[in-house]
Amino acid sequence: MSDYTKSKELFERAQKTIPGGVNSPVRAFKSVGGTPLFMERAKGAYMYDADGARYIDYINSWGPMMLGHAYEPVVKAIQEKAADSTSFGAPTKLEIEMAELIVSMSPNVDMVRMVSSGTEACMSALRLARGYTGRNKFIKFEGCYHGHADAFLVKAGSGVATFNIQTVPGVTAGVSMDTLTAPYNDLEAVKQLVAENKGEIAAIIIEPVAGNMGCIIPEPGFMEGLRAICDQEGIVFIFDEVMTGFRLAAGGAQERLGINADLVTYGKVIGGGMPVGAFGGKKEIMQHIAPLGNVYQAGTLSGNPIAMIAGYTMLKTLKDNPSIYKELDDKTAYLHTELDKVLKTKNVPYVINRFGSMISVHFSDKPVNNFAAAASADNVLFNRFFHALLADGVYLPPSAYETWFISTALSNEDIKETIAAVEKFQP
Ligand SMILES: *Cc1c(COP(=O)(O)O)cnc(C)c1O
Repeated sequence: MSDYTKSKELFERAQKTIPGGVNSPVRAFKSVGGTPLFMERAKGAYMYDADGARYIDYINSWGPMMLGHAYEPVVKAIQEKAADSTSFGAPTKLEIEMAELIVSMSPNVDMVRMVSSGTEACMSALRLARGYTGRNKFIKFEGCYHGHADAFLVKAGSGVATFNIQTVPGVTAGVSMDTLTAPYNDLEAVKQLVAENKGEIAAIIIEPVAGNMGCIIPEPGFMEGLRAICDQEGIVFIFDEVMTGFRLAAGGAQERLGINADLVTYGKVIGGGMPVGAFGGKKEIMQHIAPLGNVYQAGTLSGNPIAMIAGYTMLKTLKDNPSIYKELDDKTAYLHTELDKVLKTKNVPYVINRFGSMISVHFSDKPVNNFAAAASADNVLFNRFFHALLADGVYLPPSAYETWFISTALSNEDIKETIAAVEKFQP
């Protein structure tokens, strides 16, 4: 167990030159309290902090480390590629290979454009949907997070929910006006919005399995209903697969749920731990992107060779080894069963939501199927749960509004160690 001495020192020092001491808000542990751990290295299922303590990692860099940290083929590929220059600002063969690989894995994706983050992927996909339809408004769901572009910071999940930010200073009312929101799993609310804004809605964007308010699973018929509305109304259906892409299946949530999207956004796993995002879809829509069409989108470092080789190596491993998905599902199911057994003995209401290798715990006495339900859970208790596990070397996301991610590196022994920590937890 760590006494956090070095992390405390580093956090003090960081706050002088970095706002809040971190480069992304949730990392600051602000909602759970305490000092964020400064990490030094990681291998497989474990991370080691600046004080040398070891943690079983359930964040996995918020998803990308699906095959565990410092996965050797990815590390080696990066090292080799770096010797040929880290950037050209000109096209490379590797970008074609990456695009071909993505297209071969992703349903309904004929063409793909690489960017450098999930945020960029989502804002570009929305612009494309608007440019393609000639409409301005779009529908998103409460508690879904699509990155930090202005238009999406309305009733957003992840850090925006964690810090309870209702309206984001710096986002103009004019921009927010075109963002319509509905509760997750509420098809009637969507129908009503569409009826009230007939012919004005460019897109419906959704996390097909939500992971930014804990893990929330789409109810039967919900996605099918959205697909039907989009077909009837000429609305572009955008699957934000930044979290689910290549994680729930080689073909992401589209494959897993059996639903076709018109545009898909990727991030996280797609870069194998490097800053990568992408958006893709049918040629008919994608050909509106510049330089083929006039919907402008660009990036100096987009398709960066180091990022591409890391992502390519990761995705190729996933494509060539479909058994990885079954392995991840089985592991997560085992964690689910064991968590259930031990939480049952604690005399507190709880809900475990799981889909594939995404799982989360809400301390709630009713089903958690949308943001309101996630927000009404006992999140103070979650914070104590988080700290109890952390003290025992188990690193969970520092917020109830985040999903946990399982990697293939996590062993049944690691899960047993985790469960032993949960056993010790006194609610
Ligand atoms: C993480 C995430 C994003 C934003 O990606 P960044 O790479 O952090 O910009 C967008 N959508 C979803 C569903 C995410 O989970």
